[in-house]
Amino acid sequence: MSKQTDQFKKVISHAKEYGFVFPSSEIYDGLSAVYDYAQNGVALKNNIREYWWKSMVQLNDNIVGIDAAIFMHPTTWKASGHVDAFNDPLIDNKVSKKRYRADVLVEDYVAKIESKIEKEILKAAKRFGESFDPEKFKSTNARVLDYQKKIDSIITRLSKSLENEDLVDVKKLIEELEISCPESGSRDWTEVKQFNLMFGTKLGASADSAMDLFLRPETAQGIFVNFLNVQKTGRMKLPFGIAQTGKAFRNEIVARQFIFRMREFEQMEMQFFIPPGTQKEWYDLWKKTRLKWHLALGLGQENYRFHDHEKLAHYADAATDIEFRFPFGFKELEGIHSRTDFDLSSHEKFTGKKLQYFDPERNENYIPYVVETSIGLDRMFLAVFSKALTEETLKDGSTRTVLKLPPALAPIKVAVFPLVKKDGLPELASKIVEDLKLDLATTYDEKDAVGRRYRRQDALGTPYCITIDHQTLEDQTITIRDRDTMEQERISIDNIKNLIMNKVSITYLLKLI
Ligand code: ATP
Repeated sequence: MSKQTDQFKKVISHAKEYGFVFPSSEIYDGLSAVYDYAQNGVALKNNIREYWWKSMVQLNDNIVGIDAAIFMHPTTWKASGHVDAFNDPLIDNKVSKKRYRADVLVEDYVAKIESKIEKEILKAAKRFGESFDPEKFKSTNARVLDYQKKIDSIITRLSKSLENEDLVDVKKLIEELEISCPESGSRDWTEVKQFNLMFGTKLGASADSAMDLFLRPETAQGIFVNFLNVQKTGRMKLPFGIAQTGKAFRNEIVARQFIFRMREFEQMEMQFFIPPGTQKEWYDLWKKTRLKWHLALGLGQENYRFHDHEKLAHYADAATDIEFRFPFGFKELEGIHSRTDFDLSSHEKFTGKKLQYFDPERNENYIPYVVETSIGLDRMFLAVFSKALTEETLKDGSTRTVLKLPPALAPIKVAVFPLVKKDGLPELASKIVEDLKLDLATTYDEKDAVGRRYRRQDALGTPYCITIDHQTLEDQTITIRDRDTMEQERISIDNIKNLIMNKVSITYLLKLI
């Protein structure tokens, strides 16, 4: 098994074993690409959402939040282009009968060439030591240049044929690259076909009057249709943003990467309305702002990169992905799109209602342009969780599994243990829990030896453990242990909150961005 697959399997089983993510309706053998968040997972997810929400709505005077319904008038999806263009090119392997996204097959092929480049760079870095300049190496090494040339020509060809809806050429490309089915190894493929990703449903009780609806495939449209409502009732002046988090649904063709690609997932989107002509400057600014938000989590700068789109969606004049190094390689975590006035213009056309803004400075009415930031909460969960999961070999040769979550995101902030289950220690520990609980997610554990209890909390990502012992009864001090350094310190009970509150609160992250 490759190191990558092995690490990914560990992530999935840790998520299940420690109560973070369960397959949906598991007792019925689950439902493909649908997952439930468990007791610890929901806390981690809520904390990520809170970090995002506060960074958008609380820190920016000109961004407000809404919570639009999942059901929307069906014409919304005609206007947004989803009815006609929200398709993925699918291809089936005739031997394994497995279905794939044709573009993803090609992108995975490209990712393999990219990892060859990375290997060359690592090898060279070892050889040249301190004086190694990776950028220079990439621009001069013949083998790397060859790989890069190949990547560029594949991507250009794929983008062009997708743009022209030339599905015959997409299939030809797959054949020319000799891409085989990862499952069966066969190269016997069907034709490439378009597949609409929206889930349909019905509104209304009687069969003849029922209205065909879609489950929203993105949250953004709930913001566009409310643009004027918010602008007027909030007396908002351009530039301003509307933020929203909520469920979205896509009938994904390939959904085999745990919570990376789900059929029901949650998005955190912010649409920023701006005067036409200023989109480039806002697009650049939001790229920077969003990257900073990610970097504040401390998961390592080397795990992020921008991927600017060559093939632009029908609504965009510029687009980039923030990609993250997941256990299966660099993949999209967040999209930043300059959406022009496409959506508002289109809703104007379909509704016949003006969706314009009077700009007092320019003294004119116009349809605002939009730059959006759009991130999947579940993907963000996977990014944080997979990077945090660490196996450490300790000085004594033993190993420990520790979930090094950013403390502000950890589901439990502090665990309280009585050293033994007698002499009044459990009672005192419970008293401390009652007090800490008012401000912090706190847990109590008295089972097994303290060492085992530490390990359990390490695996859950709890940043601090507090032990109450006999000395506590005498001088009101406890030992506090740090998850990452495993160092213990003796402090007064009164100082617990002072010491940890700041580090485990979302405020800590907000100060960094
Ligand atoms: P992909 O290319 O991976 O299908 P996308 O470009 O279609 O993603 P967007 O429409 O830009 O994605 O959606 C914005 C964000 O929503 C993505 O960056 C991703 O984090 C998240 N997202 C999209 N589809 C899914 C899904 N099926 N499961 C989980 N998260 C998703």
